[in-house]
Amino acid sequence: MEEMNFSDLGLSPQVLEAVQKAGYEVPSPIQQKAIPVLLKGKNLLGTAQTGTGKTAAFSLPLLSKLDFSHSTPAMLVLTPTRELSIQVAEAIQSFAVAIPKVRTLAVYGGQDIGVQLKALKRNISVVIATPGRLLDHIRRGSVSLARVQAVVLDEADEMLDMGFMEDVESILKEIPKTAQRALFSATMPEAVRQIVERYLGEYEEVRIEGKTATVENINQRYIMVRPQHKLEALTRVLESETADGILIFVRTKQETAEVAEKLEARGFNAAPLSGDLAQTLRERTINRLKLGKLDIVVATDVAARGIDVDRISLVVNYDVPYDTESYVHRIGRTGRAGRTGNAILFVTPRERRLLKMIEKATRQPIASMDMPTGLQISEKRVESFKKKVLENLSNGSGEKFKELVQDLAEEAGVPLIELAATLTSLAQESQPLFPEMQELPPAEERGKQFKAEKTFGLGAEENKRLRKERKEGLDGIEEGFLRYYLGVGRKHHVSPRDIVGAIAGESGISSAEIGRIKLFDKFSTVELPETVPEALLQILEQMSIRGNPSKFRLMTEEAPKGIKDFVVRRSFSQDSLVSRRGKSKTRREERPVSRKKEKPFRESHGDTPFRKTRRFGRR
Ligand code: AMP
Repeated sequence: MEEMNFSDLGLSPQVLEAVQKAGYEVPSPIQQKAIPVLLKGKNLLGTAQTGTGKTAAFSLPLLSKLDFSHSTPAMLVLTPTRELSIQVAEAIQSFAVAIPKVRTLAVYGGQDIGVQLKALKRNISVVIATPGRLLDHIRRGSVSLARVQAVVLDEADEMLDMGFMEDVESILKEIPKTAQRALFSATMPEAVRQIVERYLGEYEEVRIEGKTATVENINQRYIMVRPQHKLEALTRVLESETADGILIFVRTKQETAEVAEKLEARGFNAAPLSGDLAQTLRERTINRLKLGKLDIVVATDVAARGIDVDRISLVVNYDVPYDTESYVHRIGRTGRAGRTGNAILFVTPRERRLLKMIEKATRQPIASMDMPTGLQISEKRVESFKKKVLENLSNGSGEKFKELVQDLAEEAGVPLIELAATLTSLAQESQPLFPEMQELPPAEERGKQFKAEKTFGLGAEENKRLRKERKEGLDGIEEGFLRYYLGVGRKHHVSPRDIVGAIAGESGISSAEIGRIKLFDKFSTVELPETVPEALLQILEQMSIRGNPSKFRLMTEEAPKGIKDFVVRRSFSQDSLVSRRGKSKTRREERPVSRKKEKPFRESHGDTPFRKTRRFGRR
């Protein structure tokens, strides 16, 4: 793609100022394509995944052109998760620093609604919301969308996957017809297409496609890491790899300086390379790398363009590149002159899709690597310590040192081995040979520690398949799951979709994690993994579904409050099963069954398989 600057795109001066502050050097491919379309006021369909710079692709033009002089929201962004809504809100706030009167607010499930009600009263210009919670606010009348000039659906396929599409449609109906619309999605399943057709009107489409390119001579690996552990992971990787010259790619100018400084502080010989540095300084840095006076260069794509240093034997993509083209260009900085090179890509769970795109475009699988452990680092350090000592042995360490050591041993009255051990221990103080390193927790999507690895980043179909594969325990509940009660049922016009949407939206539990749902007239039941943390269960206790309090609680044999004719039924073969499987067995079959003479519970409330009492907080 042709080289372009942010200043060529027609963004407002205030927004350009913010982009400069953010340290962005050039627009990413999706930004180059999407910004002009949105600036012209057109609707946009963007096929792009996280990591491509899509947030700035829609925020920068909309912040440049919308009128924020009213007291109600001018811009609305819908996101599938609260993490993303917070992240997008932070990004938009940073791009809007120089625009007077622009206030952003993230509105998401799981946060006390009272806090949001208060905040919404403060002239919010940009609302970034998860659909369920926003719908709640719309119903309460706490937010007015009457003056929304632009609406963005971010990660539409994820919203669909989490069961939010109905909510999204309800929200879109509240938006003025004249509002500009943009929809971003990494994939285009049929349901997203339908939303596009129904609500996007006339639109232009931009997409980031993986251009096929082959990479030879380069051993490629990736490491899955949480964003907050990237630096720690980087230092471990750098220590555990055997490399000559190393090139590390980051996204922004600031990051080149920050990462280089932090590496230096940890004893690495590193320097930054960005467009901020004068040409002579850049040349000097590259020369030092060539001559072996410098081991590590931390660079942006722009600054590293065309670097041709044979010594570079490892390229680390600390930040995932925007597209395949830049990935191929980056790793092509190693494996020069017929040598074999190594490339390591850092991927955060949310960026998993970009990894897949790169693999597809290069037609090569990228092998995963494990986070180097403390033991591995220790072995490396011991190995290089030994090497250094042995090299110096052959050099001979001089008579004066021998005399000193002899004197010391005699003075202390200890054998030479004792003295050598003490000296070794002193010599390694700044970089311990046997470091005590914490194991980094596995990187999991959205910090869900209970999430099964195999459900990472899978689509709706795959999730369904996994659900089917789960085994059912003796009590009719899926193995490893617990059954929960919800005080909403058909009478409240609640569908299983609403339940999945509410749970996913409030807690961040993905739809893949949500087990079977059974819907009755006045209540429903849902199965969730036993490993769902207490904090999330507490969030779910507070949630509402279609505007009704969920009354979420673990199923017990005691009747929930307000339900009088409580009868535990023998079986529930006549259940209105919404489950994805057929009949269930229940432990109830082995127990005496009590029935009320008058109205059986099933008639008044449907039927239910309640469990033995178990309380929250047992974990
Ligand atoms: P996104 O795909 O929107 O999640 O963005 C991924 C990351 O890229 C974020 O950390 C952004 O701050 C960063 N980013 C977006 N656009 C640019 C750019 N033009 N130059 C450098 N970094 C960028």
